[in-house]
Amino acid sequence: MRKVYLDNNATTRMREEVLETMLPYYKDIYGNASSIHEFGRLARRGVDDARLKVADLLGAASAEEIIFTSSGTEADNFAVKGVAHALRSKGNHIITSSIEHQAVLNTCKFLEKDGYKVTYLKVDKYGIVDLEELKRSITDKTILITIMYANNEVGTVEPVEEIGKIAKERGVYFHTDAVQAVGKAPFEVKAMNVDLLAMSAHKIYGPKGVGALYIRKGTRITQLLHGGHHEMGKRASTENVAGIVGLGKAAELAKKERSEEIKRLTGLRDYLYKGLTTNIEDVRLNGHPDKRLPNTLNVGFKYLEGESIILNLDMEGIAASTGSACTSGSLEPSHVLTAMGSDPADTQGSVRFSLGRDNTKEDMDYVVKVLPPIIKRLRAMSPLYDEKGK
Ligand SMILES: *Cc1c(COP(=O)(O)O)cnc(C)c1O
Repeated sequence: MRKVYLDNNATTRMREEVLETMLPYYKDIYGNASSIHEFGRLARRGVDDARLKVADLLGAASAEEIIFTSSGTEADNFAVKGVAHALRSKGNHIITSSIEHQAVLNTCKFLEKDGYKVTYLKVDKYGIVDLEELKRSITDKTILITIMYANNEVGTVEPVEEIGKIAKERGVYFHTDAVQAVGKAPFEVKAMNVDLLAMSAHKIYGPKGVGALYIRKGTRITQLLHGGHHEMGKRASTENVAGIVGLGKAAELAKKERSEEIKRLTGLRDYLYKGLTTNIEDVRLNGHPDKRLPNTLNVGFKYLEGESIILNLDMEGIAASTGSACTSGSLEPSHVLTAMGSDPADTQGSVRFSLGRDNTKEDMDYVVKVLPPIIKRLRAMSPLYDEKGK
């Protein structure tokens, strides 16, 4: 049976070139990157080289602004808790959005229990934060604005440049969770007013369990992990050398292929959407029509349950998702679609197709062939659809 993987926002398949680059670091180059002998120096060289590549992909002014972490989640925790702790004497107010990834949302909720005040900005029906509300929310106690670059469920891209300008004018740090945007949106941190930016290797065809936090030079931040003097004294623990080298290779390839891949994915994604809307009634696009990640198509099939659509697609070899992999199994309606004011009938039947570099036009054709009969069958059994008088 044909296998079509359309869940690249949950994770991606590691590239062959990345694996090849990592293998020597699991075999012969096993030194501790902090050791001064040759074994250590070789490992150090791998880490330093990866740091340059990640800095290049993000458009950082220097490699020293990149700190490797164990994941995107750790990078988000480090940014939010690190600034919150470092600036505690200045203020205790944090501004975020209501559609953040759990890595930011739950970190903010944790800080609320610790005496911090958090404002969760509303979003419009496309998932875009309200800049006027943002401006109104800033007080002299505000120490951090943390708003994602692009949403993982619907792909909406936030106005990060404008948010950065507002943050700078008001003298507030700005962190952005760019785990989904890296490699899919062209940007250069040095040209934006972004103080901190989180990314993750496994979302860009690198290994799982490694990420990075960009920290603009001079940004005040408290460590999350205390111990040895690793990562320029900002994050203790022996470096995951092979993982970091893999992230570096993935970053190098992402930089090289980014603009071509953005075009190609946008074309495929829109081709899939057209195929679905032509062959299925009552399909609704979730997310912004054009301010959206090139690979993300989240669609609502009215009167249905997303879970049953996913299971039926799975039986045909197609991997999609109802939203975030981190919230699946909870059966709660998506906090993102709910914040966007989506009708519960649409929210329930939403499916996210997130494309990646392995996907082809034939994959899209396969989905367009397989999905319409599934929807038809499920709707025939749906009491909700019946009520509509069909
Ligand atoms: C995947 C993801 C994360 C978490 O990254 P991990 O490396 O899996 O911990 C954070 N934010 C967003 C937007 C994501 O999509």
